[in-house]
Amino acid sequence: MKKDTHPKYHTTDIVCGTCGTVWPIGSTRANLRVNICSNCHPFYTGEQRMIIDAEGQVDRFMKRLQVSQERQAAAARRRQNRTELPRKKSLLEEIYGEENAPAEQEEPASQE
Ligand SMILES: [Zn+2]
Repeated sequence: MKKDTHPKYHTTDIVCGTCGTVWPIGSTRANLRVNICSNCHPFYTGEQRMIIDAEGQVDRFMKRLQVSQERQAAAARRRQNRTELPRKKSLLEEIYGEENAPAEQEEPASQE
């Protein structure tokens, strides 16, 4: 077997940068750090307090949601306040008056 082909394997720690938990493991690298671990990740804790919103995406989403809800409410108000428009007079009624207008003819059936 060749000598000096394998890296040195030793016991070290993984340190979580969020909650500070230390996880002892064996590794070829020393002093490992992670941003989040199973001790503090919302998937494992079931809590939603851990949302890291560095780019403001949550804020943008909440703004869009609010604008959308306001638009829907305004549309619903308009729908409620809408009144029936008066029926438009037909051309025959305008010419002969409403009482004397001849009944409008239906469109001729197609010739077959
Ligand atoms: Zn952690």
